[in-house]
Amino acid sequence: MYRNTLSDLAEAVMGLPVWDTHNHLRGGDELSASSFWDIAHYFWFRRELDAAGYPGTAADLPEDRRTAAFLDAFEAGRNTSWNQAVRAGLRELFGIEVRDAADIQALNRRIAEKHRDPAWPVAVAERAGLHRLVVERGPASDYGMLADRVVPMGVCYLLGGKWAEPLVRAGGAARAVEAYAAELVGAVEEAVADGRRAMRMQWVFEHPTRPSDEVPRLAETGNSREDMALVLGHRLLAAMDRLGCHVQLFIGMVRGVASRAQGGTADRSHARNDTGRVAGMHPVFEMYPGCTFEVFNAAELSSLDLVQAARLHGNVIPGGLWWFAFRASVYRANMQYRIEALPANRSTFLATDARCIEWAYIKTRLVKRLLAEFLDDQVRRGWLDEDAALHTARCWLHDTASRLYRDPSGGATGCAGAAG
Ligand SMILES: [Zn+2]
Repeated sequence: MYRNTLSDLAEAVMGLPVWDTHNHLRGGDELSASSFWDIAHYFWFRRELDAAGYPGTAADLPEDRRTAAFLDAFEAGRNTSWNQAVRAGLRELFGIEVRDAADIQALNRRIAEKHRDPAWPVAVAERAGLHRLVVERGPASDYGMLADRVVPMGVCYLLGGKWAEPLVRAGGAARAVEAYAAELVGAVEEAVADGRRAMRMQWVFEHPTRPSDEVPRLAETGNSREDMALVLGHRLLAAMDRLGCHVQLFIGMVRGVASRAQGGTADRSHARNDTGRVAGMHPVFEMYPGCTFEVFNAAELSSLDLVQAARLHGNVIPGGLWWFAFRASVYRANMQYRIEALPANRSTFLATDARCIEWAYIKTRLVKRLLAEFLDDQVRRGWLDEDAALHTARCWLHDTASRLYRDPSGGATGCAGAAG
């Protein structure tokens, strides 16, 4: 990203519009960073700083000591692609190169000043080419001048968290399961009636004995958590199938609980390279052809399996790389897997997971840079001509998502026939 040696094709890719399919941006005061630390302590980057020796208690340190510790860790990690991306982002957005404590103080002042400017979030989005951002919650009007670029999800985290606890307390009663299913379906119907067709749900179809496409008959009481999960999952997908919903699924990551004994910052979440994972999803993909399934992957080894699944099932879309897979190496592998085997209109690529607009910028620029470099190489080797390369970039960055999320304004940039 970071030197001016790009070809014309790469420059063109860097300028393309982008659709961010997954982030945690909130409206109001949290939309942009209010201090340097909002950017420096973004949890994924924080983990990298911690790996370089940044103290777990950094947030509680006096500013001068925290700044010194940050500069040490930032310098130690300057080889990583994220570190380079942060440096470039700060330079491009705020005009400041991070070298010493005075630079961080200057950044703090500049970031606070920009935070007060209502036009700042949209200016940052524009510079990255962020044309649309799929957010967890609305209304869009909470996002100020960014409102017309925001696409709120219908319902998020369906069957996430501790959904089973009240049902287990109710003795696993069939009646309670059906009442909860009706509640979830009602929420989906309401969202669709409001024009929000994209839903996010947990994958609950892993059962120790039953195949994923079997809907168990519930006993009156005493049903197992796994049987209840299958029934609820299928009730939900049947409704979403009927309503033509777009379903976001997240795979490849096991959530762990922070250990308070170790100071509360350790997070035991990790990638899970389960080689049977995607194959086990096929029956469900087949069962609900009215849904499109966009799969966000955190596990390196499921990457090619998702491409194979998408070739078999017209409603499967390999999506953005997520958590542990947001790595240059995994992006490069996914680009190769997808370009050699999957039509460009069947893939989305960018899920920033950002918590402030500056991080959406930093990650978007990183992915665009990787894509520009990858496509440039494909053209040089003679696998693609420049037109095909640009067509692919448009679809991957924007147009496939535009179709999937049914952008009311149209907004496609030339990629015809995307799924959904
Ligand atoms: Zn996320």
